[in-house]
Amino acid sequence: MGDANLRELQTALTTASDLASALRSAPNRRDADQLVHVLRQALTAAGSLGAQTGPTGCALHPHGAVDPLYGDPEDPLPPGYGKCLLCNDRRRRADAHPLHARPHARLPPRWRRRMNA
Ligand SMILES: [Zn+2]
Repeated sequence: MGDANLRELQTALTTASDLASALRSAPNRRDADQLVHVLRQALTAAGSLGAQTGPTGCALHPHGAVDPLYGDPEDPLPPGYGKCLLCNDRRRRADAHPLHARPHARLPPRWRRRMNA
């Protein structure tokens, strides 16, 4: 699918370039409409290039599981959570054990004072 979009983009841009190069000094309305049509095809193809990350939309786990709570209006995910279940599980574990996220908090109090000073 991504390859098809890329080929479509390249074909549309080549066609648009050919059309623009062939224009004479006074292009008519039909020339302009044809060029706009091809450039719109290029825009559509370019806009769908980023949509090839799989159902999760995650760069690390594009074909992983989607979090079943994603989009749940009754139990919304916390801010910063995405569709990827693997990444959300990692965030949940970090939220459940905040000490892992703040290594200085595990240090003895005298060291913590030193780090915060
Ligand atoms: Zn992920």
